[in-house]
Amino acid sequence: MSSVSLIERRLLKWNKLSSLLPKPIEPLLLPIEHVNKLLKICADSSYLRIGESIHAHFIVRNQSSRAEDVFQINSLINFYMKCRKTVRARKVFDSMPERNVVSWSALMKGYQDSGFDLEVLKLFKSMSFSGESQPNEFVATVVLKSCSNSRRIEEGKQFHGCFLKSGLVSHEFVRNSLVYMYSSSSGTGEAIRILDDLPCYDLLAFNSALSGYLEYGAIKEGFDVLRRMAIEDSVWDDFTYMSCLRLCSNLRDLELARQIHSRILRAGFKWDVVVRGALINMYGKCGQVLYAQRVYDDTHAQNIVLNTSIMDAYFQNQCFEEALNFFAKKMETKEVLPNEFTFAVLLNSIAELSLLKHGGLLHGLVVKSGFRNHVMVGNALVNMYAKSGSIEDARKAFSFMTFRDIITWNTMIGGLTHHGLGREALEAFDKMMIAGEIPNHITFISILQACSHIGFVEQGLYYFNQLMKQFGVQPDLRHYTCIVRLLSKAGLFREAEDFMKTAPIEWDVVAWRSLLNACYVRRNYRLGKRVGKFAIEMYPKDSGMYILLSNIHAKSKEWEDVARVRSLMKKRRVKKEPGVSWIGIRNQTHVFLSDEKRHPEIVLIYVKVKEVLSKIRPLGYSPDVAGVFHDVDEEQRENSLSHHSEKLAVAYGLMKTPENSPLYVTKNVRICDDCHSAIKLISRLSNRLIVVRDSNRFHHFQDGQCSCCDYW
Ligand SMILES: [Zn+2]
Ligand SMILES: [Zn+2]
Repeated sequence: MSSVSLIERRLLKWNKLSSLLPKPIEPLLLPIEHVNKLLKICADSSYLRIGESIHAHFIVRNQSSRAEDVFQINSLINFYMKCRKTVRARKVFDSMPERNVVSWSALMKGYQDSGFDLEVLKLFKSMSFSGESQPNEFVATVVLKSCSNSRRIEEGKQFHGCFLKSGLVSHEFVRNSLVYMYSSSSGTGEAIRILDDLPCYDLLAFNSALSGYLEYGAIKEGFDVLRRMAIEDSVWDDFTYMSCLRLCSNLRDLELARQIHSRILRAGFKWDVVVRGALINMYGKCGQVLYAQRVYDDTHAQNIVLNTSIMDAYFQNQCFEEALNFFAKKMETKEVLPNEFTFAVLLNSIAELSLLKHGGLLHGLVVKSGFRNHVMVGNALVNMYAKSGSIEDARKAFSFMTFRDIITWNTMIGGLTHHGLGREALEAFDKMMIAGEIPNHITFISILQACSHIGFVEQGLYYFNQLMKQFGVQPDLRHYTCIVRLLSKAGLFREAEDFMKTAPIEWDVVAWRSLLNACYVRRNYRLGKRVGKFAIEMYPKDSGMYILLSNIHAKSKEWEDVARVRSLMKKRRVKKEPGVSWIGIRNQTHVFLSDEKRHPEIVLIYVKVKEVLSKIRPLGYSPDVAGVFHDVDEEQRENSLSHHSEKLAVAYGLMKTPENSPLYVTKNVRICDDCHSAIKLISRLSNRLIVVRDSNRFHHFQDGQCSCCDYW
């Protein structure tokens, strides 16, 4: 065979083989509709990388800069907004040669979803001004929702007029957005007027009004809407039922709650976890922890949402220990992995019980579980430390927080005030202003109390008369009472009386008790007797008034009047709330009543009290028997004084904890004068910090002094 024919044969074979090989790949040329679809998938699933490649693909093929490319450019805006890349979306929008209404609405919706509601309103104004496109119902809905979110009712009214002119208001979605805007931003009857003008009953519009009023806190209006919905006798949807449960929780109306519950049952409503959680929450708020428990027990698939709901129901009904025990039980069986809500409920329960040690342990668990940076958990930590007596740890928890909201600031300022740190509270208030947080009515209560603690009368009046107005905070009874306290504590009794006479408010027992207490502490016995006489007639069931009046008579050595007040109290069957104090020692809480007999170590405790009291006598302690509320002889009076619950708790703490370690005691009612002066001296004698939380505030006893400066 010649060499030529060999080559020919090989070539032939090669050609045969190569025909079987796949053809070389052409550059990818997907039709534009397919690319747009792909971009939508990227937007919905936040596939940033792939979406960016598509954008690059558009640029290479010059498909994103011509007027006819508006469709895919709009898709790009939508994609970047869904991936939370607002700046890039804006760049794409700004470089568009021509825009249509979809371009505008995509950008607005994106801004709204990212929480930039003011930007939405600005964009809408530029859109109207440029005249590029006319708003459609989608744009109108977005704009009105942003007005609701940012509570810009005045601008909302202008837009309402604008949509009225263009006829968009007749569109169902726009109308419902209007209803929601008016109800959620102003709580006024405007939303109801729109409902009145409806051609026929519309469930969605009524739902919008109901949830809007609830959002605003206009409970009465919300209830009116619900009543009208009940009269219509139409079918309700999930949304209606959830709003109803919320309404019942707010109203704390058990009867209504049960009616709604039975309506849910009759409607054969789908029982999902959210509804059950809402039901448990509702019964908890209505004070029916047993009903809440029953709903919980009926649920087969229990999860963290329901577990937290039932713990919260315990918390709402002051069953703090039950909430903690429930959690401990679930932790043991590993049935529960706590979330941020669980931690908040637990920490707040611990705060109410002042269990500093348990709080510290839970703090460790928070850190381990990775919830430390959650605002709600951070707030609960600050609250727990402040209420458990360690304001220093509260401050640390506060400074550790990356994000803070109004509750964070209020908790910190309130905590400082409760600990009598008025100056620090006012400093924190200044920092809050610098941080741009807007104070609310709770902030001002703390601030006025802080002023009262440190005797800043002028500043307090400035906050009350000027600053509250500037921030649009309407003063209520609590603020007015703070002013009575501020003036009377400073000894300005005439001003306090004038204020009480002229203030446009109906005073309650707390205000009168504050004034009477000031008379007692500031030794204005003349006014005290006048106020006390009036107060026990006005509030004949309030034991505190009798005790204060009796103490005032005792201080003036008017023993007959003391006897008269006491017999009046007996005749009217007014009982003094028994004093209870507790102290936590090594994971156990020890509770003491006055004249306690049941504690296993009570004999030793009495010996300790006697020993300590005899040691502080040379330091200046003399029992203040004037305040003792029993008709007994001198020796018995002293005995009864020395067996006060807070003295027993402190003595037990001295017995059971290492030298120099701080003691934290909690008392259910106001600490009495005698215990106050005794504990001051005990703090010096034992060289310890003793923190007592009573019903009013915290007392930090150290080196013979108390942080309250003897006024509480
Ligand atoms: Zn006492
Ligand atoms: Zn004190």
